[in-house]
Amino acid sequence: MLKIRLNGVVQGVGFRPFIYRLARQLALKGWILNSSSGVEIAAQGTATALESFLARIPRELPPGARIQEMQVREEPDEYFRDFSIRSSRDSEGSTLVSPDLAICADCTRELFNHPDHRYRYPFINCTNCGPRYTIIENLPYDRPRTSMQFFPLCDFCGSEYLDPLNRRFHAQPVACADCGPQLALLDNNLNPVAGEPIAKTAALLKAGKIVAIKGIGGFHLACDPLQPEVVVKLRQLKNRPHKPFAVMCRPELAGELVRMTQEHIRTLSSPQAPILILPKQDIFPLAEEVAPGNPNLGIFFPYAPHHLLLMAEDIPWLIMTSGNLNNEPVAAEEHELQGLCDYFLSHNRPILNRCDDSVLLPTATGDIFLRRSRGYVPSPLPLPFGIRPTLGCGAELKLTFALGKGEQVFISPYLGNDNNKRTYNFYLETLHNFQRWFRIQPELMACDLQPDFFTTGLAEESGLPLVRVQHHFAHIASVMAEHRLNEPVLGVAYDGTGYGTDGAIWGGEILKVEYTGYQRLFHLQYLPLPGGDAAIRRPIRIAYAYALALGLDTALFSELTDMERVVIAKQVETGFNVFRTSSMGRLFDAVATMLGLFPEISFEAQSALALEFLCHDLPILDQPPYPCEIRDNDILIAPILSGLMEDIKRAKKKEQIAARFHRTIMDFTLQALQRARKTTGLTKVVLAGGVMQNKIIFTGLVRSLTENGFQVYTPGWLSPNDEAISLGQLVIANAMQRGR
Ligand code: ZN
Ligand code: ZN
Ligand code: FE
Repeated sequence: MLKIRLNGVVQGVGFRPFIYRLARQLALKGWILNSSSGVEIAAQGTATALESFLARIPRELPPGARIQEMQVREEPDEYFRDFSIRSSRDSEGSTLVSPDLAICADCTRELFNHPDHRYRYPFINCTNCGPRYTIIENLPYDRPRTSMQFFPLCDFCGSEYLDPLNRRFHAQPVACADCGPQLALLDNNLNPVAGEPIAKTAALLKAGKIVAIKGIGGFHLACDPLQPEVVVKLRQLKNRPHKPFAVMCRPELAGELVRMTQEHIRTLSSPQAPILILPKQDIFPLAEEVAPGNPNLGIFFPYAPHHLLLMAEDIPWLIMTSGNLNNEPVAAEEHELQGLCDYFLSHNRPILNRCDDSVLLPTATGDIFLRRSRGYVPSPLPLPFGIRPTLGCGAELKLTFALGKGEQVFISPYLGNDNNKRTYNFYLETLHNFQRWFRIQPELMACDLQPDFFTTGLAEESGLPLVRVQHHFAHIASVMAEHRLNEPVLGVAYDGTGYGTDGAIWGGEILKVEYTGYQRLFHLQYLPLPGGDAAIRRPIRIAYAYALALGLDTALFSELTDMERVVIAKQVETGFNVFRTSSMGRLFDAVATMLGLFPEISFEAQSALALEFLCHDLPILDQPPYPCEIRDNDILIAPILSGLMEDIKRAKKKEQIAARFHRTIMDFTLQALQRARKTTGLTKVVLAGGVMQNKIIFTGLVRSLTENGFQVYTPGWLSPNDEAISLGQLVIANAMQRGR
């Protein structure tokens, strides 16, 4: 007899019925049961059957299942009458929670199949699909500990739930129109609107209304992307002037909006159903206001049954943006959105754990996450070494935390992007749940060097041993952990903002890194950053300060008021209310504004994206770089900016200037790394930081460094942006504590 222990995502995903069917097919006897550390199987039969059993388990897994570890050992045979599913056993260790899964093909078929019991039922699901993480109150994952506790099973659903050969065997959210949650259409005062909710919602959307649609992990704000007036109205209400909106579209029509490969279609149709950022078609049928000035569009396929029902009402595509005020956490209750929409398409299944849509950016050198949430959270990630129970508190923007022990870490969903109370409440609530479910009580805290962050305060107040981790050190370490790089590497962190050990704002850093420490090898030359936030929003101030400090021609800055000139000149001269910065993000801001791209910025990375879009179809490596010079540890900015301003004066095309600027970054990065290789002997390079979301920089660096003999490691688990900081903090804190 074989005893098999499996862990990973093996509960709530149809794993036991899958094993049950497979065992019966192979005439095996024995049992399977859920334990709190995974599943256990006893299997007895012919040698050929057992061999085939072991081979087929990983190959034929249900779509939502994921095996992390499989231990097999031989034991003496016992007497079994048949193969059975035994009741759960509680033991030490923790169970994993499955992420939410997009509706599966079988349920989709039943949804539109007239005589089916769940024909047009908006909450149809089975063990292969449906909500998971977002409906959980406590573990082990069982209906009474989910938001389905309010919906007692009817006889029909109950019989399926208890039948091991049924696709809905122990599917905790199983429901039908007789016993499960219901949709309702509400007006802005939360009064019910008469009529069939789906058809009525479709009609309202076509009439140019904004409808907040309650989904799996939160609300979306939906409107018709063909009507510019309503798109503009939504932008005003959300206080989101430029940042692109995501569009949900019918799979068969997606090709009219964006250019896709088979690979992209597979990702879009996967159980994770993320948003993919893809290039728009040349003839773009939607309003320009959907993704203004942007050659790309974020699209996703309907992933909940009611999404499918809605799209079937002759709606080919729909703006579906997070239901929130710009940068705040996504809303799970109607009252939070009353000011932002005309109607609500809601339902009575509570969302217990909010989780935004995940976003992926495909590039020539692999997909990168821009946001890792629904469909991926809360699957744990394996660590390169065992750790104490630790909380990596994260930074401030693109906020996540990392909670781990042993060789596993759980990264929270994206929690918000602004320092406000709602984000912090969401943070604390999610942290509390993760600690409870995964049985991790931190003994060690890690936070950023920046003293003002909420997360820093939280770490300090805990009274636990605390390691403060430099921001870009954390960026690099998170990618090292993913690739299990237990050795010194070279790290390139091109980023917006991170507090440096010298009080300056870092962000253009080339470091030598190991988990226990780092050495700052090169950085962008320090330049004066006037007045913090005001300058980040109005980057012409930054450009002007840079030009003054570098002794460059300031004739270019005609948009500045006389007052601004006087104030900034005074600031640069006296150093009052001025930070020194080596930020790559701010250099992009300065260059974008010199090219007259926009005087005001409404979301971070806007200039880095705008410069990328200007030249994304030019052959970057054919452009001559601006002169770069590295002096000691400084990558000099003056030669670059003066070359660039020369081009502007000669009225060279903006596209070309942007291309040369990108090329220049690749050049000085390569130069600096070649020097670093000479002095350190290291050839492994890690790329990280928010600027790596710029596809030209990211793919260009991967290519040029690889061609020049470096081994390049890039973020695949988490975003290159600040979502990854928490993980980096967690591994560093442990390595440093152990090192002492
Ligand atoms: Zn299903
Ligand atoms: Zn039912
Ligand atoms: Fe950062």
